[in-house]
Amino acid sequence: MLIARRSLLSLAAAGILASACKPAAPTSVTMRGQAKPKVLATMSILADVARQIGAPDLEISSLIGPEQSAHHRDPTPSELTSFGDISLLLHVGFKLEGWIDRLPESTGYRGPIIQASEGIEPILIGGRIPDSHTWQSFAGLRSYAQTIANAYIELWPNLATSFEARLKTYLAELQAAQDEAVALLAPLRKGRHLIIVPHNSFRYLGRELGLEFRGISSLSTGAQPSAKALADLLDEIKGADTAAFFIETAADQRLMSQIASESGTKLGGKLYTDSLSKPDGPAGTSVRMLAYNVATIAKALAA
Ligand SMILES: [Zn+2]
Repeated sequence: MLIARRSLLSLAAAGILASACKPAAPTSVTMRGQAKPKVLATMSILADVARQIGAPDLEISSLIGPEQSAHHRDPTPSELTSFGDISLLLHVGFKLEGWIDRLPESTGYRGPIIQASEGIEPILIGGRIPDSHTWQSFAGLRSYAQTIANAYIELWPNLATSFEARLKTYLAELQAAQDEAVALLAPLRKGRHLIIVPHNSFRYLGRELGLEFRGISSLSTGAQPSAKALADLLDEIKGADTAAFFIETAADQRLMSQIASESGTKLGGKLYTDSLSKPDGPAGTSVRMLAYNVATIAKALAA
């Protein structure tokens, strides 16, 4: 309870929570005529955790949908209207959503805002900027789930039993997937294995599972790597026991194929970094996303 309580207290101190105690006028109505509170999450992976704990009692939607980058993305004018009737906003934090501070001004939204990554020890890029990709680790998702459940229970205490039961189920599913991931990676415990990805989105997973990732560019849609950076990477690959390249989107394919062939390394497939796949795809939920990513990595490095 501590984390969410702290978030809510700091919101109260900022005068934000005062209106949160009166959830917005609900527009969605259940079969029994009861209103379902609406929760908005900023991106698809966070929305999935929110849904696993909150649905079907709450109606959860995502500002940024599956198969879309979560970086450098301000809400569009039409999306800003979706803040009109929500009761809770969930965001990742660590500066992923740079627009969040301007939200009350741009939308008039005065409800609670919960930072899902609160309480997670950040990995600092260059020693100072917190890496926002906290969803790419089992511990990160575990912390999201707990923080979200705590916020739900504070806001809708009459539904606490349901939230707690779903939290338990989610955490058990996550633990089973983590155990499986650790077992899959066990054969790779010896030697040096390099996993090369378009952008550096796996620092948390690397820390958790003892994997070594290298990002080609610092941002998903950022600049091309310099010749020196590429030459250094090729040297590193030569010194490793195995290495594999992965893509995130179709747009990465050309550059990654080119560097992979120059280094005599293969493409290991596609990883889901900043969003889920469509529901019927291989990474349709947050747990399946992590399981799929680890299985794809293990398969490529073992081959
Ligand atoms: Zn990213």
